[in-house]
Amino acid sequence: MTGDGWTHDVIVIGGGFAGLSAASMLAERGRKVVVLEARPRLGGRASSFRDGVTGELVDNGQHVLFGCYRETRRFLTRIGAADRLRLQPQLDVTSVDQSGRRTRLFCPPLYPPLNLLAGLLEWDALDFRDRCACFRLVAPLRRARREMRGDAGVRAASAGADETVTTWLVRHGQTRRLRELLWEPLALAALNQSPDVAAAPTFVRALALMSGTSPSDSGVALPARPLEEFFASPARAFIEAHGGEVRTGVTARVRTDGEQLREVEADADLLCGPVVIAAVPWFALTELFRSGPPPALGSICDAADATDSSPIATVNLWLDRPVIDGPFLGLPGRTMQWVFDKRLVFGDATSHLSLVASGAAAITRLSNSAIIELATEELRAALPAAGDAVVTRATVVREPRATFSLAPGQPARPGVETGLSGFLLTGDWIDTGLPGTIESAVVSGHLAAGAALELTRLGHPGQ
Ligand SMILES: Cc1cc2nc3c(=O)[nH]c(=O)nc-3n(C[C@H](O)[C@H](O)[C@H](O)COP(=O)(O)OP(=O)(O)OC[C@H]3O[C@@H](n4cnc5c(N)ncnc54)[C@H](O)[C@@H]3O)c2cc1C
Repeated sequence: MTGDGWTHDVIVIGGGFAGLSAASMLAERGRKVVVLEARPRLGGRASSFRDGVTGELVDNGQHVLFGCYRETRRFLTRIGAADRLRLQPQLDVTSVDQSGRRTRLFCPPLYPPLNLLAGLLEWDALDFRDRCACFRLVAPLRRARREMRGDAGVRAASAGADETVTTWLVRHGQTRRLRELLWEPLALAALNQSPDVAAAPTFVRALALMSGTSPSDSGVALPARPLEEFFASPARAFIEAHGGEVRTGVTARVRTDGEQLREVEADADLLCGPVVIAAVPWFALTELFRSGPPPALGSICDAADATDSSPIATVNLWLDRPVIDGPFLGLPGRTMQWVFDKRLVFGDATSHLSLVASGAAAITRLSNSAIIELATEELRAALPAAGDAVVTRATVVREPRATFSLAPGQPARPGVETGLSGFLLTGDWIDTGLPGTIESAVVSGHLAAGAALELTRLGHPGQ
């Protein structure tokens, strides 16, 4: 794209967390921005749909955030939706283990890592040996935090690239029970992959952030509304109120000419501008280009195509009575690792439970009825109160490509800037050092917006 006569300053392709965070930041800074989203609704892998029978807005899967998701909170604040996030002031998780024993991990409001250590020492799920083992993670996590800050003198990587999470935990003396009750559910939730498969470095970084600088960094944060109302509609309203455009149901195609961007096809329209931000997932990048990827993006597209995905399955159950007394409960050691009571999270307009299986490759091959049966059995085994409850409706949501694989040997993740002038990448799969999460998507969205602001500064002096 060269010359004047741009239709927009920045064209953002993809309306998930990454695209909307980038577009909202650009719109706030006065750029004329358009978001093109292929699906009829915004949100991407974090979206809601209306259940045909109950009329409730149902999420494609429960999304859990943590207090350390700072860029996400910055985005929510920008679009006026910060009050739609319910954040624990400190980590407080109740679980029911495989033997049916119910315990609570509560971390007092002390300066990290004392809060976590105090919580683990008090956690009655653990015995003396497990509790002592926790202390062995303090030094590696401190080193990981220093590495992330880029402190001088920190040379030894806190985790090897070929090491799995389990190997790393064993190397640091974490007992079997500690791994089963704490680290495995946490790794599955944060990485969406079994700790036996996922590489350790990303987990260590995520853990270092959660054990960060304030007690609330490790607190669980839940969207208090369905994802559509949590961030997608507020982001759209913000972008439009700041002179931007959001078009849904438009599959964009990028036209290039050798090593030059030409324009973006948006249905019958041809859009052009000095910057295009591709906010699409790894599995949709190659097909974004009308005539195949330009040479400057060949290796990035090859790597994206070779990246494996990890699935998540969610079972939504409508029961004839309440069965849990808090918004969520951990079910470590089970296929469905967490259950959420959406009524307690969203309020009375909603009445279902969501049971989540992360790293769900083993069950996504099963039929819906088999998955529902498994989830119901596991719920009843964990909660006697669910034994007599009648299931009035049940649905399954499968997300086969929920996140990219973090297994050792996966292709390197690209950065925001590419060799194609004016073409930027964003998305959870960009090299933020974080797992495939909302925070990674928003961190990369803000990085892409920052780069786009630079590239369009000429027409906006002072902005
Ligand atoms: C079931 C499930 C549960 C999850 N749970 C958690 C969790 O608890 N915590 C957490 O932090 N993360 C969680 N995640 C991950 C999180 O949802 C993602 O990391 C995040 O939503 C990715 O956002 P994104 O903008 O990078 O990509 P996406 O959300 O995939 O957005 C990309 C968008 O680009 C669009 N697109 C693609 N091609 C084109 C095209 N040619 N033209 C126009 N548009 C196009 C797609 O339709 C899509 O809307 C979960 C994911 C799933 C699926």
